[in-house]
Amino acid sequence: MEENLNSIIIPVKGLAPGKYSYNFEVNEAFFLDFGNSQIKKAHCKVMIEAEKNSTYLAISSVISGVVVVECDRCLEDLEIPIDVNRSLSVKFAKEAEESDDDDIMIVDEIETEIDLRQFVYDYICLAMPLQKVHEEGKCNPEMVSRIGGSQLDGDGSGDNTPFSALKDLLSKK
Ligand SMILES: [Zn+2]
Repeated sequence: MEENLNSIIIPVKGLAPGKYSYNFEVNEAFFLDFGNSQIKKAHCKVMIEAEKNSTYLAISSVISGVVVVECDRCLEDLEIPIDVNRSLSVKFAKEAEESDDDDIMIVDEIETEIDLRQFVYDYICLAMPLQKVHEEGKCNPEMVSRIGGSQLDGDGSGDNTPFSALKDLLSKK
């Protein structure tokens, strides 16, 4: 199973028409390879189904798992569930070209295999929310106050020092 970790390559050469399925897994090293150090931990299963027709390959990717990033508000670990289902058409041409359509990949017909890592990376990144924060009230209050999380309470008092946030916290007890 080791070779299926963080390597998402499927064979295309000489594939007879029909359906094929492949299973892969990605972890945090996968994201690091793309220069993304925001992902502290990851464990996602990637299930690829490929259906070969005479002229193209229809690929569906189902990705499920979890990634852990730093919460934008309290800097503690935030688990983001990943649940992605995307389709991709692979077309074969005399030479590889860029496709304007994200859902179409054009590869050189002499290729023997295709690498889907970039697609899987993009799918997972797109599945993550822009604002990576815990649900309201789920942040670590100590951390929030220490880093000046007074933007949270928004009482507009203008007294936004970390100390005042801590004072607020203590007075609430
Ligand atoms: Zn948080």
